[in-house]
Amino acid sequence: VPKPGYKQVAAEPDLAAGDFSSWLAQMEAAIRDDVGIDVPCGGCTACCTSSQFVHVGPDEEDTLAHIPPALLAPAPRLPPGHQVLGFDERGHCPMLIDNRCSIYEHRPRACRTYDCRILTAAGVAVDDDKPRIARQAKRWRFAFPSDADLIRHNAVRAAANYVFRHPDLRPEVDLSAHPTQVAVTAVSIHQAFLQHEGDGPAAGAEPDPEEIRVAISQRHPGPSGQGIR
Ligand code: SF4
Repeated sequence: VPKPGYKQVAAEPDLAAGDFSSWLAQMEAAIRDDVGIDVPCGGCTACCTSSQFVHVGPDEEDTLAHIPPALLAPAPRLPPGHQVLGFDERGHCPMLIDNRCSIYEHRPRACRTYDCRILTAAGVAVDDDKPRIARQAKRWRFAFPSDADLIRHNAVRAAANYVFRHPDLRPEVDLSAHPTQVAVTAVSIHQAFLQHEGDGPAAGAEPDPEEIRVAISQRHPGPSGQGIR
């Protein structure tokens, strides 16, 4: 029985995030090749309504042709030509109309590659000013059908801890202000936190700074790499 004055809040149902290793392979491909990722969002629009600046690169000509120039502003810390799409006074992306993305087929790369399961995977909390994303990230439940799934999960979490302790890993991004990019970087470097035995991964590798440096330079070559959101 709740104490007087306390409001009982119904727990939100879990969301199936899929097998961890399968998800991780998809996410690594999305980061490496800047390709879209299929996220079972349902009707959720948390990432479009959470006061997020969406990066649009100068190479995204199709996207740029579908966004009114007045809605774009120069992207901080990035070279000329990189822009961000802002948000309105409610924190909503201006391209979200009637709760749907009005440029879905032409949406920015940062939107096509965004997957809030990465926050769950890396154990990274988003800022208090993004409660809808925080709520959604807490609902995802990965499946761990094999030891390899658990070992990879632990490696991604260890990598996220490492990124928090080395915020200068990606100078083009203010990692302290972008929890999602902490998680993206953790996925990129998690291999350095694994040993390999036979066909499968094993836990407990001491990270090699050189391996981490190479992984970062290959997957985040600079401002034209993974969209910043
Ligand atoms: S461009 Fe579309 S998908 Fe991207 S934040 Fe805006 S409404 Fe959402």
